[in-house]
Amino acid sequence: RAKSEGRGTYRFFEARMGIEVRERRLLEHDLRHAVARGEMHLVYQPQTDVGSGAVIGFEALLRWKHPERGYVSPAVFIPIAEESDAILQIGEWVLREACREAATWPQPLSIAVNVSAVQIHSPHFVGLVHEVLLRTGLAPHQLEVEVTETALISDPNRALLTLRQLKSLGLRIAMDDFGTGYSSLSNLRSFPFDKIKIDSSFVRSVDSNEQTAAIVRSVLGLGRGLGLPVLAEGVETEAELGFLVAEQCHAAQGYLMGRPSPIAQFTQHTHGTIPLVSVDRKRA
Ligand code: C2E
Ligand code: MG
Ligand code: MG
Ligand code: MG
Repeated sequence: RAKSEGRGTYRFFEARMGIEVRERRLLEHDLRHAVARGEMHLVYQPQTDVGSGAVIGFEALLRWKHPERGYVSPAVFIPIAEESDAILQIGEWVLREACREAATWPQPLSIAVNVSAVQIHSPHFVGLVHEVLLRTGLAPHQLEVEVTETALISDPNRALLTLRQLKSLGLRIAMDDFGTGYSSLSNLRSFPFDKIKIDSSFVRSVDSNEQTAAIVRSVLGLGRGLGLPVLAEGVETEAELGFLVAEQCHAAQGYLMGRPSPIAQFTQHTHGTIPLVSVDRKRA
């Protein structure tokens, strides 16, 4: 199509494509050294019990501060890291750092860690998780591994084996971004998930959009039927939370209850004893 718009346009298009590929290569190169250079850190976002408002755990989210570009979004650099296998080294650092941090908490709150397809399919992954649990002393039941269904479908048999082995270590598996994948329902049946995380795209405006509300209600019914707790992601407004309270959603996460932040943000006001945020958000 670009070609039919004339030679100049084509060249421009081609040049722009070239820059994008070059940009990717540059980022890919920088990513390989990012951990060693101390450019990565984790932020933590609280997950709350919808009924009581109490903090039940945190999700660890990766941040990369590039020396020249500043913060690069994980939505940009994670896919690049996945393509280049740099994700194995980065993901190992995330796992160690998150478990080390959570092991220091005075209460056994859960820590959710995002894991990529490349990690799930790595033959060393289960051994790594086992070693990290032993080394950090974190209780296995505190660790929750978040996987998206797209991480499982390239080799479902192998993924199933890995998830079973992970569960035998005593940790839990959450299905992240539920509803956005290709065959969520059959994946729910095929894999041993312990929790469903409804994608934020279904939570947004759930209080005002009847179709969205119907979908979320049915996911909650699905969770009840399967005996799986459901967490709603991306809760931004009181109205969205009100819907989740009324529909008895189990857990919630979003800017309303707390933005992803350095862990000190949640501990400094409570002298290190973590439930902190949203304790004043108690609900009947
Ligand atoms: P995710 O695991 O689904 O994480 C939720 C994303 O939603 C996070 O974006 C979080 O900051 C954002 N979020 C939370 N509450 C709200 C809200 O109320 N409103 C809005 N608009 N957004 C909200 P983030 O941190 O940019 O991460 C994006 C994605 O990058 C994550 O989606 C996850 O797939 C991936 N990611 C992040 N950290 C890691 C990691 O350590 N390893 C791997 N493999 N992937 C990661
Ligand atoms: Mg996640
Ligand atoms: Mg998600
Ligand atoms: Mg996501």
